[in-house]
Amino acid sequence: MSNKALENYSVEEVLGLLQDSYDAVVLVDSKEHRYRSLRRKGVFETYIDEYGDYHELIQKLWFHLYDTNQEITDDYKAFISFYDEYEGKYSRRFKIVGGENNKPYTGQMTVYPLKDEKKYIFVLNVLDDITTVDDLMTDKKVHTIQNTFLFSMYVDLVRDTTNSISITEISEDTVNYNIKYSQWRSMVVGMIWPEDREQFLQLTDPEYLKKNLAPGRTTTFDCQMKNLEGVYIWVKLIFSRTKTTMPDDFRFVFMVQNIHEHALEIMSTLKVYENRAITDALTGLYNYGGIKTEMLNAIDMFNKDSVPVSLIMLDLDFFKNVNDTYGHSAGDKTLKAFADILIETAKGKRASVGRWGGEEFLIVCSEKTLEELSPCAEELRKNVEETDFPEVGHLTCSIGVTQIKEGDSFDDAFKRVDKALYESKNNGRNRVTVL
Ligand code: GH3
Ligand code: MG
Ligand code: MG
Repeated sequence: MSNKALENYSVEEVLGLLQDSYDAVVLVDSKEHRYRSLRRKGVFETYIDEYGDYHELIQKLWFHLYDTNQEITDDYKAFISFYDEYEGKYSRRFKIVGGENNKPYTGQMTVYPLKDEKKYIFVLNVLDDITTVDDLMTDKKVHTIQNTFLFSMYVDLVRDTTNSISITEISEDTVNYNIKYSQWRSMVVGMIWPEDREQFLQLTDPEYLKKNLAPGRTTTFDCQMKNLEGVYIWVKLIFSRTKTTMPDDFRFVFMVQNIHEHALEIMSTLKVYENRAITDALTGLYNYGGIKTEMLNAIDMFNKDSVPVSLIMLDLDFFKNVNDTYGHSAGDKTLKAFADILIETAKGKRASVGRWGGEEFLIVCSEKTLEELSPCAEELRKNVEETDFPEVGHLTCSIGVTQIKEGDSFDDAFKRVDKALYESKNNGRNRVTVL
């Protein structure tokens, strides 16, 4: 241990010692887009070369890619130039992954602008805090919760200016950059999901916003947009007009909120409800509404493209007896087993199977003519007749078959297939009638 008194240190000696404790020192020429590292050790050896491109350096240090090591997409690279100039001394923390095992580190960078125009010294250090990694993890969690806002800025539509831009995926700090609103729009449109672009352009159009948004009002719309890694995520675009009494004051706060997880949740819930709305709970087949829609769509397809469409209507014979003899629950199981036979029959065909009601079923079969389908109906009838249904034994069903003809309305087609079924019943049941 040295017992040297403070007075005995020379300035040069101290500065020399200080220099030794820096992890990296980089000299930057922002006009030439170049840097030269005077010193680099540890994790910075992975990130900094002896000479290199300044924007590449900013990308590595500023953009929040500390947990992916991935390159950001070209769309976002356009924003790098927002972060390449410094007016005065500046310092910030950043996260970085590197060294052995790709460990995460918290770093600190301090920028010293030189008197020379647009030249800087970057001093970079990894902080030796033992709790760093834990901090980082907590920080990351807080970050994900807090920063559902990916992007925000202040817009003046009259002057066509933006300021206080904050891209939270890149940095918590806001930057003021001389970018026109119109320029910004054309930069961002490329990051929007292609099918959403037209709507984006319409809703971000200055004239549209001026006309449609009263002072103090907010409007939003949801679309998909690329994140830093180039993956499309669901976002909410929010435009909020400043409260003002001046009629020509068109200042807005614009924000992009990450609603991806929430949107996925909503969509899967919607899917569940949508399925529930068209599915028969007992058999899992389409319910009345579901199969009716399938039939209407098939008729439309026939009218548009002349794709043949055939209908098979089935009704279990003397089903009331099943309930009366074996109970309602056995009846339910039988309906389910019957539905499974129909599903099996429809397999490999372009066919939709539904429960029209009670013990009556409808199959809508596209791309099959009556000649092709009638043998299938007959086979199905035989199959049912031969099936030994659990608890209730043997059953039969009556079947009506028809094909959609030109000029058929839904009612025309339905009446015909119903009539065919009625004839099967009248003629002794357990048979197929084609009309
Ligand atoms: P038919 O040969 O003339 O069709 O005689 P059927 O007994 O099958 O016809 P009917 O229309 O008189 O009776 C249909 C029976 O289907 C009456 C009803 O109890 C039964 N049913 C309808 N829906 C269900 C259901 O969801 N579960 C059970 N278990 N039975 C049902
Ligand atoms: Mg019946
Ligand atoms: Mg019936």
